[in-house]
Amino acid sequence: MDSIKSMVDLQKIDSKLDKLNNNIQKINEELTNKNKLNIAQNKINHSTSKLSEIEKFRRKSENKLSDINQKSSSIEKQLYDGSVSNPKELEAIENSLGFLNQEKTVEENKLLKIMLLQDEFNKKLKEDSITIDKIKTQMSLKKEKFSKIKSETEVEISKLITKKDTVETKIQKKHLSKYQLLRKTKNGLAIVKVEKNTCQGCRIALTTAELQKIIQLKDLIQCKMCNRILYVS
Ligand SMILES: [Zn+2]
Repeated sequence: MDSIKSMVDLQKIDSKLDKLNNNIQKINEELTNKNKLNIAQNKINHSTSKLSEIEKFRRKSENKLSDINQKSSSIEKQLYDGSVSNPKELEAIENSLGFLNQEKTVEENKLLKIMLLQDEFNKKLKEDSITIDKIKTQMSLKKEKFSKIKSETEVEISKLITKKDTVETKIQKKHLSKYQLLRKTKNGLAIVKVEKNTCQGCRIALTTAELQKIIQLKDLIQCKMCNRILYVS
């Protein structure tokens, strides 16, 4: 039966087409995959927002320190310009000055910590910017490479489709329908070879009678287990 031989050819073409279409799908997935870029961008966004927060704290702290310094110098002026001579008043002024100096030390330590944190996040931001640039370069190289493979694959697919159309005309209509139905239900594999008396679709052993029928090509024989069409080469 010519149908069987042509169905074997058709199966080869279809399997190849399945593989190529699958490759195209993988390429499309790869080309639209922005996971790495998104992760890197999220890190940058996080560092940027942290830095703006830290900057606010820094300004607040610097303003506070400047207030303290102003207050201190105005008090020191009072202390040394001789305008206050009352000992009790002088003591109160000295106490205020002492308190302001304590406040100044606390605030300076706070500012130092803020500045260290700012350095840390600036460093992170710089590293993440380098990373994202690398990712963008990789993505553009990948795009170039995959686009080339994709267009080559598409040419191959179109050639195979033309071949497929020709082969299909050589197959009896009822056989072609059966083949197409099996392709849908049997994971793309409708017709399989018999090797060592075994169906290569499901590995079941065939009886001598079944083998004879297949060899004589008298009828379209389907595997009793997996239902696929069988052939011997
Ligand atoms: Zn089988």
